[in-house]
Amino acid sequence: MRSSSCFSQRVRAGAAAGLLMFSLHAGAQTRDWVVTGTIVTADRVFADGALSISGDKITAVGERAALPGNAAVTKLDGIVLPGFIDLHNHLTWNVHPRWIPNRKFSNRYEWQNTAEYDRVLAGPHAALGGAICEAEIFGEVKALIGGATSVVGSLTPDKLGCSRGLLRNLDVDSGLGPAPAAGEACQKNPKAPQALFDLVVNDVFPLEIDYERMNFLRCALGSGAMRSLVVHLSEGADASARREFRMLNKTGLIMPGLVVVHGTALRAEDFQVMGEKKAGLVWSPRSNDELYGESSNIAAALQQNVAVAIAPDWSPTGSAGMLQEIGYAGRRYKNVTPEQLIAMGTSAPARMARLDDRIGALAPGLMADFIVLHGDKDKPHLAAVRATPADVQLVVVGGRPMYGDAPVMARLLPGVKLESLVVCGAKKSLYLGDSAAAAPRRSFADIQSKLAAVLAKAGASLAGFECN
Ligand SMILES: [Zn+2]
Repeated sequence: MRSSSCFSQRVRAGAAAGLLMFSLHAGAQTRDWVVTGTIVTADRVFADGALSISGDKITAVGERAALPGNAAVTKLDGIVLPGFIDLHNHLTWNVHPRWIPNRKFSNRYEWQNTAEYDRVLAGPHAALGGAICEAEIFGEVKALIGGATSVVGSLTPDKLGCSRGLLRNLDVDSGLGPAPAAGEACQKNPKAPQALFDLVVNDVFPLEIDYERMNFLRCALGSGAMRSLVVHLSEGADASARREFRMLNKTGLIMPGLVVVHGTALRAEDFQVMGEKKAGLVWSPRSNDELYGESSNIAAALQQNVAVAIAPDWSPTGSAGMLQEIGYAGRRYKNVTPEQLIAMGTSAPARMARLDDRIGALAPGLMADFIVLHGDKDKPHLAAVRATPADVQLVVVGGRPMYGDAPVMARLLPGVKLESLVVCGAKKSLYLGDSAAAAPRRSFADIQSKLAAVLAKAGASLAGFECN
């Protein structure tokens, strides 16, 4: 429903009452509000549009003229897009500055086995120790700065207190409903029950999964108890990387909901299998180009009807965020259109992770996860691809403003403690909210200081916020 007539009575009533204040206690944000701007939905653009939100959900999308006249509307005059969904990241590693190895590699095991990797990345990361929670928070803030509202690749639930409240951690704390009951029928060994922490399971080394776990995951994915399984696979350019696909295919795991991260070594016949079995592909072009000198054959994947998403991998060799990765792809891969790139950051990852009933579009009933960008509203997709983090006006997760231009955040959250930061020369504000970051009343500056001190002891430094 995307017509101008879809504004609900509920929104009209809220707007007429002049409600723009938020109740910021978890789960208590029930007031209605409206954002105006150029609204980009999956199939059309409302040049003078409005998005209405009630609690954590979108209630209506349409032409602004359909709204009754009143002053209780947040006029942002920007480009409104669904929040980016990042299915491939390693958040705690994003504290480390860019690593530019002086050679290219054949597969991921090669660079993971170098002394340089140990010295520049693995060693300093292991030294994070007691600051690992701060690293998670820092990584989530970087993700917000790049316009992500959902991400995969967080700490496991025993460290959940680190990050709760910033953005959706799809694999451990999605906020999208209770974790699946784990498909009781899939539990073959009652003495050692298998766990599903959330709707998505993320596995960086799927060929190391033990027999019992593999059986469980295949059953849970096949039954739909688990929405999606994200696996790193075939990362590199050589025969051994490609072989991984055949090995995983033998396990029977390639099916709807299976998301292959990288697939750099795959060829048309492999994508044909993925297309037939309805598995998705996550493209991380920058990291692939940096490490292997080439990237996944997206044209071949699309030709075989494989859904393709884009994601940054991590900031040491990939991008600092979704916006920067989309910008990189837009500059380097001219055969991919801006419309395709925006879909690869929003609707495509939602569909392949089987979460499109909750996130990934601006439509009534979906979660109010959206971003607002500065830029040329006549060409909103191109403007989004060319945008840098300086252009991020606002990031809203589940109806809650989390990050954005300092004046916008101050207007939306009057009287609320916000963190100030300068990103790509622009003054931004961050709401640490009721996350664990805020619990001990630490500021984001404190978190950065602690990380910088710990990394300095390991002979390393803290990464910044890269603009592109
Ligand atoms: Zn990765």
